[in-house]
Amino acid sequence: MHDRPSARAVPGMILLITALALPACAPEDQASPGLDAAEGVAGAEGTYAIVDVGVIPVDREGVLEGHTVLIQDGRIVEVAPADEVDVPAETRTIPGEGRFLIPGLAEMHGHVSPDPATPREEMEDVLFLFLANGITTVRGMLGAPHQLELRDALQRGEVLGPHFIVGAPSLNGNTAPTPEDAERLVREHAEAGYDLLKIHPGLERHVWDHMTEIAGEVGITYAGHVPADVGIRHALETGISTVDHLDGYLEGTRADGLSADATPLERFQATDEAKVDELAELTRETGTWLVPTMYLWENFFNPVEVDSVLALPEMQYAPREMREGWANQNENRWRNQWEQYPDLDWDATGAAHAEARVEILRALHEAGAGVLLGTDAPQMFNVPGFAMHREIPIMERAGMSRHEILESGSLNVARYADEDLGLPGDFGAIVPGHRADLVLLGGNPLEDLAHLEQVEGVMVGGTWISGEEIRERLEQMAGRFAN
Ligand SMILES: [Zn+2]
Repeated sequence: MHDRPSARAVPGMILLITALALPACAPEDQASPGLDAAEGVAGAEGTYAIVDVGVIPVDREGVLEGHTVLIQDGRIVEVAPADEVDVPAETRTIPGEGRFLIPGLAEMHGHVSPDPATPREEMEDVLFLFLANGITTVRGMLGAPHQLELRDALQRGEVLGPHFIVGAPSLNGNTAPTPEDAERLVREHAEAGYDLLKIHPGLERHVWDHMTEIAGEVGITYAGHVPADVGIRHALETGISTVDHLDGYLEGTRADGLSADATPLERFQATDEAKVDELAELTRETGTWLVPTMYLWENFFNPVEVDSVLALPEMQYAPREMREGWANQNENRWRNQWEQYPDLDWDATGAAHAEARVEILRALHEAGAGVLLGTDAPQMFNVPGFAMHREIPIMERAGMSRHEILESGSLNVARYADEDLGLPGDFGAIVPGHRADLVLLGGNPLEDLAHLEQVEGVMVGGTWISGEEIRERLEQMAGRFAN
């Protein structure tokens, strides 16, 4: 499936191909790379069998009870009822009885430090936190050259961590004030080998238009924020590949005639449902993916009790400087908001904001727009990996089923990689030929997604990390971060 023309080469085709590909691929499509054609994964050696496990393949609904999954040199080679699988000698077997196996999940708006001076150990801690939560793919949304080296080292299996998709350094109003600046940056970033361009606010519309033209020419896609001057409709129509944080949707669906000095509460209550439906339809048509990062945005507008947030169990895995940084960020944000609107009912405002976002996500999802799982960790209060468990309940509130939420972190990510990034899409489902990115769980996530927290082992590109190893390293990290 990778030898068809790259969708990213021609902007017009992005719309066409992704729109056609949105209905679920047949399982056969996913399994099609022939076994003998499948090469091993770099850095992965050996044969593993996860025996007698409940397989949740995700390319179809439900559980394959009592199956065995055979893995060779980093690839899934067989998925079949346990009594039908010949497990070769010298195979490392992992008991699966009473457990469930899902494809590895993804953090589609994550951050690995863009500062090259960050100690390697700190970066590896963050990578490990993702893995410990079953996240085997991270899309980094603020790039720097050292991340390209890290991506390649991860790919070769020299560093333990998720597969890393690397967004470029930010394109925004400061870095790209003119079309010429944008063109230079697009060419430089594509040449350097970044997997996509990261958009931040401030780009003017004529700069955006030139940027999209050059990006189409050099074959790199763009994703992230929707600059105000561009607006959500134009961003969708000109081929943005992911809209993150639902950026632009609240503004783009606001009822006409709202006064310029309306308060945030009035603005969040002024969503026009007809506009929501129209934008949802446009999003489906253009095949644009959404990375909603709901939990983060709720925290931005809900008055949070910092002490109680910092007392959440996952905070033991965030270093003290990170927790303090988040507390300061939150405090500064609120100081500004309160100074601007001293009399506003912020509890009501936070609730109206959360409600408006959930309703927009619901409409987008119901229209058939594709969702990708992401939290923006380690942004404010989002502990890498663990933040996913804060995000998921909000996706459920917006009407996504448990199966669809699993898809958003696996199969959809593979489609995005294949269709928009021009990367191999041979992951995201438990089928022969796929890269062995797997998570062994103590409970069935299709019954309760909280079971995603019961990680009993993770395989990333064929490298197995047992539940015991995960718990030990987490404990060791908590010890280091305790003071
Ligand atoms: Zn971010």
